[in-house]
Amino acid sequence: MQVGDGRQVSPFYDWWAGELRFCELISKDEIVVWGHDLTVSEWWDGLDWTILDSFVRRHPMLVQIIRCQKLSKQVDKAVWKPAKNGLFTISSCYKFLRVKRPKGRLKTRDLLTSRGMRIEKGCCLCGRYDETCEHLFFYCSFAKEVWRLVLDFLNIHRQPKRSDLEAIEAIKVL
Ligand SMILES: [Zn+2]
Repeated sequence: MQVGDGRQVSPFYDWWAGELRFCELISKDEIVVWGHDLTVSEWWDGLDWTILDSFVRRHPMLVQIIRCQKLSKQVDKAVWKPAKNGLFTISSCYKFLRVKRPKGRLKTRDLLTSRGMRIEKGCCLCGRYDETCEHLFFYCSFAKEVWRLVLDFLNIHRQPKRSDLEAIEAIKVL
């Protein structure tokens, strides 16, 4: 997210400060106490952050990250960072995956835990399987549904294929 006034940005579920969503670092119980609908703007008084002391004590590193952020009067905006213009396209997504995926640079949970980060390994979408790159983009039930919708949108009426075969199909149309 490109944070503006923070009214549409969740401090827990959106990528708005740092490279991880806070929901991956904070317990679900604590998020329930804050409320799932909390917005970043509720922690900002127009000039500075007004974060409760209890949060500061529990998450001093997160608070440092938050304090590096400033809100503005602009409207929050979803941006696709891999594209220079910030707009998501299938083509830019495909290029992003082709460049990032083979080098192991996508920060999936399996990669982060292998680097020593103490987070749950479960998929952030379905929670049923370990979050690997292959699972996240091809085997997760959510990913399969996205693939099905994309194929329907493209007027291709068939079931999604294995990831490597879909990649070959995608190359044909790019
Ligand atoms: Zn999944």
